[in-house]
Amino acid sequence: MDYKYTGIILNKKNVGETDRIYTIYTLEAGKIRILGKGVRKPNAKLAGSLEPITLAEIFVAKSKGMGKITGAIPLENFSKIKSDFDALEKVYDAFVIFSKIIADQEKDKEVYEIFLSFLFGLEKISGEENKAKMEVSTLGFFFKLLFQMGYGLEVNNCVHCGKKLEPDNNLFSASRGGILCRDCQSFENKRIKISPESIKLIRIFLKNKIGSLTKLQVSQKDLNNLKVVVQESFNWI
Ligand SMILES: [Zn+2]
Repeated sequence: MDYKYTGIILNKKNVGETDRIYTIYTLEAGKIRILGKGVRKPNAKLAGSLEPITLAEIFVAKSKGMGKITGAIPLENFSKIKSDFDALEKVYDAFVIFSKIIADQEKDKEVYEIFLSFLFGLEKISGEENKAKMEVSTLGFFFKLLFQMGYGLEVNNCVHCGKKLEPDNNLFSASRGGILCRDCQSFENKRIKISPESIKLIRIFLKNKIGSLTKLQVSQKDLNNLKVVVQESFNWI
């Protein structure tokens, strides 16, 4: 049987003498692994279209087990990301987390769209010393991803008593998926403070498109605070 997928190449791994296994996040089937037979032979043309961080149409022949790539057409190379060290670092961080938490062969059109808009947004701001903007976009992507996967954080009411949150004196709780108010902090062992600005930013991330997040001015302190919140959330998952 022949299949056609549209997807982002996440990863490649050399196997055998001349082959590679590619991990691809596709619109049609979610995260899949496919064999690129003979792609490391000196005259093989396919490999160039299958570099990580490429959006491509991929043609696959499959009878049983892992399919075999028969052709690929690159749709977007993200060349600005690939020539910007800061952008590359952000994308590889995102790919590592994304590959870990996304299960194999679970298609999700919304996740696919969030993922693509993150990459296209980063491509737009790459090459211009936009490190802080890139960080905001990457964090926005992670919070949207958490939400889409059913791990959205409760940022309006205390996750223990249900009271509406005051801006100050709040603790983040990864295991409860949200924030504890001042009166409920004794219920959490990990003391991760969350600033009023960070809480506000998470609300903004969830309400807005990733592309528009680069307009936000965010202090390094709040970026660091949000990074801890994201990291703890993914660790918990
Ligand atoms: Zn409370």
